[in-house]
Amino acid sequence: MQIETTGILINIKPFNERDALAHIFTCDNGVLVGMLRGAVVAKKNKPLVGQFGRISWNARLDSQLGVFHFENEKNLSAPLMMNTDLLKIMNCVFALIYTLIPERESYNDLYKKTFALLNDLNGTDNPWDLYLDWEINLLHDLGYALDLTKCSGCQKTNDLCYLSPKTGRAVCRDCGEPYKEKLYKLPVDLNVTKKFLCDVCDVQGIKIPQIRKML
Ligand SMILES: [Zn+2]
Repeated sequence: MQIETTGILINIKPFNERDALAHIFTCDNGVLVGMLRGAVVAKKNKPLVGQFGRISWNARLDSQLGVFHFENEKNLSAPLMMNTDLLKIMNCVFALIYTLIPERESYNDLYKKTFALLNDLNGTDNPWDLYLDWEINLLHDLGYALDLTKCSGCQKTNDLCYLSPKTGRAVCRDCGEPYKEKLYKLPVDLNVTKKFLCDVCDVQGIKIPQIRKML
């Protein structure tokens, strides 16, 4: 089986003395996992997290660990390296994709949003707002869509004050009053999305990445 596509290197770790195991988030095949031969000892063109480029991925059998050929075209992380917040955001994005997105399932929309985020972070005044939008999209693509447009009780679109932890749908002030202690408060912030991400992780029997826990 062979796949030719483009993608972003989101995780790389030594596999043996010469080779590395890499996770690449591709535009049309989701996350691909495979070996990068010689990556550990490479002196030139060393593969780094945050690089974007053309890849080919080969596996003789579907069940086998594939082997990558990766051609770096652009290092998306380079402009983010000098800023602690931007670096933190990038690492968090990669850790969440690495942890939560299954292998070889297309997440094309999330890919586009991730690519755009990494490009837009450099030069924005509100990196955390962009990141929050990205997390809301991630939740949506994982099946936890937040509906912030209308009250789930009475359908009205104004005076929305709460969010149901169970359904992810907005609740207006009047409908939410009797059980407001159990509801999240709007507007959605990173504490609220973290709680939903923890739910996703619980269902999958995994832990939320440490870096996301610390945000
Ligand atoms: Zn209502």
